[in-house]
Amino acid sequence: MPAVANSPEILAKYEPVIGLEVHVQLLTATKAFCGCANQFGSAPNTNVCPVCLGLPGALPVLNEKAVEFATLASMALNCTINERSIFARKNYFYPDLPKGYQISQFDKPLAEHGWIEVPTADGGRKKIGITRVHMEEDAGKSIHDGLADSGKYTSLDLNRCGTPLVEIVSEPDIRTPDEAFEYLTRLREILLYTAVSDCNMEEGSLRCDANVSVRLKGAEKFGTKAEVKNVNSFRFVRQALQYEIERQIEVIEEGGSVKQETRLWNANEGRTYSMRSKEQAHDYRYFPEPDLPPLIVSPELLSETRKRMPELPEARRARMIAAYELNEKDAHTLTASKEFADTFEAAAKTAKSPRRVANLLLSELGGRLKALDLELDQSPVSMAGVVQAADLLEEGKISSKQLKQLLDICFEKSEDFPAVYEREKPQQITDTAAIEKMIDEVIAANPKQVEQYRAGKTTMAGFFVGQVMRASKGQANPALLNELVTKKLEG
Ligand SMILES: [Zn+2]
Repeated sequence: MPAVANSPEILAKYEPVIGLEVHVQLLTATKAFCGCANQFGSAPNTNVCPVCLGLPGALPVLNEKAVEFATLASMALNCTINERSIFARKNYFYPDLPKGYQISQFDKPLAEHGWIEVPTADGGRKKIGITRVHMEEDAGKSIHDGLADSGKYTSLDLNRCGTPLVEIVSEPDIRTPDEAFEYLTRLREILLYTAVSDCNMEEGSLRCDANVSVRLKGAEKFGTKAEVKNVNSFRFVRQALQYEIERQIEVIEEGGSVKQETRLWNANEGRTYSMRSKEQAHDYRYFPEPDLPPLIVSPELLSETRKRMPELPEARRARMIAAYELNEKDAHTLTASKEFADTFEAAAKTAKSPRRVANLLLSELGGRLKALDLELDQSPVSMAGVVQAADLLEEGKISSKQLKQLLDICFEKSEDFPAVYEREKPQQITDTAAIEKMIDEVIAANPKQVEQYRAGKTTMAGFFVGQVMRASKGQANPALLNELVTKKLEG
């Protein structure tokens, strides 16, 4: 935690106000305004052309795919999509920006007035407003280290110039670092479900800047805000906000005033540093991009986009909670990625009891994976294997104890369930007389429990089933055993 120490009483006097700006690279094959490949990891300066290098006379042509993706994202974020929006030049000088400006959108963005719903600390839900979603292009990258001559020079890689982006700006509706974390998590999930971006923060496909200020609780006016940049994980966003909130409160409590400035998060030290004050900030001299016509989103594109809209994570969870009798946490696990949720549901449909497939995945498989620190999609047991295991359980062909043993073998030998089951197929006792003999012995040895059962405590049947199952070393056919125990106890 930060070195700033405010007492809980002092912290409680203040209310933080947080707004987030998120830049997301769109997963198009080519760049926003030229035919160059939009690809991370190519050799430096190989995906460039006169347009994205801003050479004199080169003219931008808007990538339709980028518009489709930006429209899909805006719709998924509950925005109103403007039929007509305007590209604008955002002018500034920086070595990684050879044109001297970025094509962006300014006063007429693609979409506005959206929202994302997040869970709150008290178990409720809250809508965080989205002010706007606009399209723009990315700049290149300055490389300060990792190359042979990095000690002497800064190198430039202009492959990223012209990569299509959407910038998603939230309303200042966020009140805690946890809410900011939830907002970002939900936002990323929606962008992944709609497949408009890979949202890979390490590769810079999703980048977040946070605006934060504090005010006395009950005050109407916002405090002076600081912008925290350069935060490359959601966890760090939460930490940076926590630090910044406490720092600002300390400044105010000591009689000072918070400066409007841009600050950088240093993850190693767990604190923010002042980068530049507002006075030194850029004046971008926006003006309409003369080389591009207004962007018109046609009614056809809107209806196409509506058709392409996948079931979004929140709706999917609600449906799955009802369909598989899951709790909220388990629903989150099963919907962590769209691919996984799709695989699960396709498999569950083929099973005798879809709910049992969900339970097996979450309990038996989930537990073993967690112990090995593996994700569900790294399991040695395939979804088909889980379905087979669930069906065998459902039909009473194996006991849950046998299932556990089989799964242990799967994990020990890194083998799928069908192969292990075929080889190790447990012996099952299906001989009625043999099972009845064991039941008789257990009944004789437990007169007190028999009495309780006959006095009306029918749940006691489970006790007898368990005892006989143990005596049979887990090999009694569960369905037959259940039936015979009831018969004997009633008899
Ligand atoms: Zn190009």
